[in-house]
Amino acid sequence: MTLLEGSIGVEDLVLLEPLEQESLIKNLQLRYENREIYTYIGNVLVSVNPYQQLPIYGPEFIARYWDHTFYELKPHVYALANVAYQSLRDQDQDQCILITGESGAGKTEASKLVMTYVAAVCGEGERVNSVKEQLLQSNPVLEAFGNAKTIRNNNSSRFGKYMDIEFDFKGSPLGGVITNYLLEKSRVVKHFEGERNFHIFYQLLAGADPQLLKALKLERDTDGYAYLNPGASRVDGMDDTANFKTLQSAMTVIGFSKEEIRQVLEVVALVLKLGNVELADEFQANGIPASGIRDGRGIQEIGEMVGLNSVELERALCSRTVETAKEKVVTALNVVQAQYARDALAKNVYSRLFNWLVNRINESIEVGTGEKRKVMGVLDIYGFEILEGIPWVKVDYFDNGIICNLIEHNQQGILAMLDEECLRPGVVSDSTFLAKLNQVFSKHGHYESKVTQNAQHQYDHSMGLSCFRICHYAGKVTYNVNSFIDKNNDLLFRDLSQAMWKAQHPLLRSLFPEGDPKQASLKRPPTAGVQFKGSVAILMKNLYSKKPNYIRCIKPNEHQQRGEFSSELVAVQARYLGLLENVRVRRAGYAYRQTYESFLERYRLLSRSTWPRWDGGDREGVEKVLGELSVSSEELAFGKTKIFIRSPKTLFYLEDQRRL
Ligand code: ATP
Ligand code: MG
Repeated sequence: MTLLEGSIGVEDLVLLEPLEQESLIKNLQLRYENREIYTYIGNVLVSVNPYQQLPIYGPEFIARYWDHTFYELKPHVYALANVAYQSLRDQDQDQCILITGESGAGKTEASKLVMTYVAAVCGEGERVNSVKEQLLQSNPVLEAFGNAKTIRNNNSSRFGKYMDIEFDFKGSPLGGVITNYLLEKSRVVKHFEGERNFHIFYQLLAGADPQLLKALKLERDTDGYAYLNPGASRVDGMDDTANFKTLQSAMTVIGFSKEEIRQVLEVVALVLKLGNVELADEFQANGIPASGIRDGRGIQEIGEMVGLNSVELERALCSRTVETAKEKVVTALNVVQAQYARDALAKNVYSRLFNWLVNRINESIEVGTGEKRKVMGVLDIYGFEILEGIPWVKVDYFDNGIICNLIEHNQQGILAMLDEECLRPGVVSDSTFLAKLNQVFSKHGHYESKVTQNAQHQYDHSMGLSCFRICHYAGKVTYNVNSFIDKNNDLLFRDLSQAMWKAQHPLLRSLFPEGDPKQASLKRPPTAGVQFKGSVAILMKNLYSKKPNYIRCIKPNEHQQRGEFSSELVAVQARYLGLLENVRVRRAGYAYRQTYESFLERYRLLSRSTWPRWDGGDREGVEKVLGELSVSSEELAFGKTKIFIRSPKTLFYLEDQRRL
């Protein structure tokens, strides 16, 4: 009964009347303007990013939500976390929290709120507390290395994350496992104007004390580093120095040794220095273009820091060895190729470091075998809702098979073609890839690009020349092919992995196991596209076995501004997230809905207040009847003109009462 009391708009969109896109957006806006950022659709939580700290979090609120059931208090991410945790503990049902929404919508913040809530309520004790601490401290570490400022979000996750938190039969945490997906490693060497590289680079330069900086032979000023855009080194409201301290203490809590932390930072410094290695034209005796390093100092420093022969490193950067069964041929790389090799090395070092960090964290939080566990999975991946084939989004009126084929078909899908382009010798670029897509899919009903549109005498000015578009079920999505090839390509010349493996630096060396001549297989590592496809399949299987809890995050404006609500922008996301369909499906979950008037007509004889005479309003009358019969508030939802009753049992009960 408390559902509407003191609330702004409707707290559950199931109660919306009339039920249409416009009223849905209006309702979210009305609530947002009153700083009510959470709204339900049944048990789905819709969250609109407030871009300000609201006084609705912390121990007091956690305690309040712990003491109440889902519909008793205002909608909140704590309420959702509470339901998930309690059913995990009491009904022995593994849970997953699926958080969707576009960049900047608040997915990562929501995932942290869920984790904080669960950590706060899941038991006490020395061992339990230390597990909790480690789980929570994994966030600042992964954010330092995996997040960056983008145009859309100052703290954008540039990797996908799935975390399983494991509990014993009493619901106390045992530990966890983190899986990471697709780090945007191209950012290490290139990013848009106004964006930054990964936070760690700035944190290290700003936060390292003078001795550390000196030991790493780094300059504090970010302008001196080619991989860091000048001019975008600071982010409003973000304190890199303080965050560096937080990072170091988080790593310590998780169990990284001082030595490990130092080695990690050395590898970070190595990447920065690699970016400053300048390559220049050189010509071989016969006039064949070759390259060399312009100023040997940088490479010398790298060599000293990680115990590498700098001459060998230069050779690995500027030439390529091709081994056939019979012979070994060394070819010189021209400047462009050598720069490509340098950048590929930097990207590989960094992304392997990131994987190493995730594994290292997992080693600390891993649960020993033996005990039976209950699991809560938390998924925070940008854009995962467009991965068609999400098992429980059943869309009957659209054949997803067509799209899946378009993207994933083994030989003729977009991913397969991307792989093929990456493998093709000769000049390969994003535009040759697009040209190929255009050619192959020119007649595909769900594929569009400027070229195919022209062929059909249509013209859409909103789509750039380097774009193609796929008509997903929720709407059209435009993809820009810029850097597709680079992002997919993991190719690293073996000369480089072999050089890295020879480093005396234990961590760096361990990142390149295939550099060991004894280990080296001639097989190429799978490309990002292939790796991702495989890991998504595993993820899906994992999620299938759990009960889903949904959080749908919405970004209210493009400016990361508090208080600004753009109806157009929200409408696009609402459509994309399928909110209206969600409401329709949930409504179908109510066994009974009827206008207050007709309900009262039928049941008013059940209450002494409304029978034989009732002069009040219809809705009040209905409240009187249901109140007198002590029907639980969880069973009911009060709409503008209709009453909703959840289960048939309640209806039978009412009918029985009438017959008495
Ligand atoms: P991406 O896909 O780029 O990683 P995201 O969906 O994870 O985006 P977040 O990083 O969670 O987005 O949120 C962006 C910013 O919005 C946060 O850094 C924070 O400033 C603000 N924000 C999000 N949720 C909340 C909240 N509940 N309370 C206060 N601020 C929030
Ligand atoms: Mg995020």
